[in-house]
Amino acid sequence: MKGALDLHVDVATVWREILSDVREKVSEKRYNLWFKNTVGLSLDDHTLVVGVRGTIMAHLLDKQYKQLVAETAAARLGREVDVAFVVDGELFRTKRREEQEAGRRLLEEAAPERAAPFEVERYALDNFVTGPCNEVAYNAALEVVSDPGNAYNPLFIHGGVGLGKTHLLVGIAVALGLHRREHIEYVSAEVFTNRFLFALTNRTLDAFRSCYRKARLLVIDDIHFLANKTHTQEEFLNTYNALSRGRCQIVMASDSPPKLIGKLKEGLVTRFLSGLVVKLDKPSFATRLKIVRHKCARRRFEIPETVAEFAARNVKGSVRELEGAVNSLVAYANLSRRQIDVNGARQALRGLIEWHCRPVRLPEIDAVITAWSGLNEGDLRGRSRTRPISRARHLAMYLARTLGNFSHAEIGAYFGGRNHSSVSAAVKNISGMVEQDADFAKEVAVLKAEFGR
Ligand code: ADP
Ligand code: MG
Repeated sequence: MKGALDLHVDVATVWREILSDVREKVSEKRYNLWFKNTVGLSLDDHTLVVGVRGTIMAHLLDKQYKQLVAETAAARLGREVDVAFVVDGELFRTKRREEQEAGRRLLEEAAPERAAPFEVERYALDNFVTGPCNEVAYNAALEVVSDPGNAYNPLFIHGGVGLGKTHLLVGIAVALGLHRREHIEYVSAEVFTNRFLFALTNRTLDAFRSCYRKARLLVIDDIHFLANKTHTQEEFLNTYNALSRGRCQIVMASDSPPKLIGKLKEGLVTRFLSGLVVKLDKPSFATRLKIVRHKCARRRFEIPETVAEFAARNVKGSVRELEGAVNSLVAYANLSRRQIDVNGARQALRGLIEWHCRPVRLPEIDAVITAWSGLNEGDLRGRSRTRPISRARHLAMYLARTLGNFSHAEIGAYFGGRNHSSVSAAVKNISGMVEQDADFAKEVAVLKAEFGR
């Protein structure tokens, strides 16, 4: 294991050195766009593998900079190597996090009341509002609480940000006695990883292991954090096996289903799939309304029915956003010192609503896809049909079609005067790829998130 770790350090360093040479050869703008967020993943006799943030990026780097990188690498290494660009799950996630940052900042402003992870009462299962989007997961959580280790083991909950994964996880842990510390471990995969690496460097692995292996219930949040972390995955697999021999109940949450977590050991995927896998979806209008009422009641805030409906109809994202909405309504009512009506609510929720409901415009799609694919301003509206450009153009057309109310003709006219049927073919082509290629589907979801969808 030690050797492998050293190798890992090496390729990272080597790649940094190559990058510093590349930096001399390209403009700063290009460097920042293409090379800044990359990582050296592996290097053997033949190939240097470089991780990048997305499939389009990998494709374009391959087309445009492979030669330059190969030459620079050869000069550094004193031997020829082939260069491969692949999507690195962690970089992909960082990018997604950054992209969601804008939306989140808005929410944070709206939600000054931030939860510490162990506000026991707040995350109690009793305070979890159910609807068709989450009741399977909720019922599974109840079963686990009533018969831990036997009901569904492991229980694997997945779903988008702010839909209640942590709430269910903490709810289960609390119901089973987390606060009494009865061999119940709640840990995020990130903390698990950090502790593992710390133990590894400080030679305290035994203590690390015994800490988890006594558990009766092990709850691991945000398990997707383990993507690409081979050594931590190995350790986790060992811990997992030891625990399941002792009939420990294991509960996990992740932002994607087991098979879509980037670079996860086959053994782990199989184990994750061996119990019950449940998904949390976005709440429907009826459930959103229930949630708004519930959150207001908990704060003893009397909300007129029309206002509750207004909020539920217009704030369509996650439950976290709904909470932000309720916080804004409460704050607005306190500041204006009178009961809130629909007009007040429209004011109070303006930021949140605009984010989701503003119509998407074609130039916006143009700008986002251009930046995303590292093309030049105007490329998508131009005549060029080179592969990277026409691929990006197809994607833009697809987004225009799925996010906006544009006809094929309007879209074609905007993107370089193309006709109805070529737009329709492009949209069909990208839809097919979204269905077949899970990684690509993820990227498209990220792009949609750019527009708050
Ligand atoms: P995730 O872990 O999926 O990102 P969280 O569990 O942190 O989401 O939920 C975000 C916020 O929304 C939390 O404050 C949580 O209490 C609340 N929440 C999520 N789902 C529900 C629900 N069904 N009923 C009540 N509150 C919920
Ligand atoms: Mg969470």
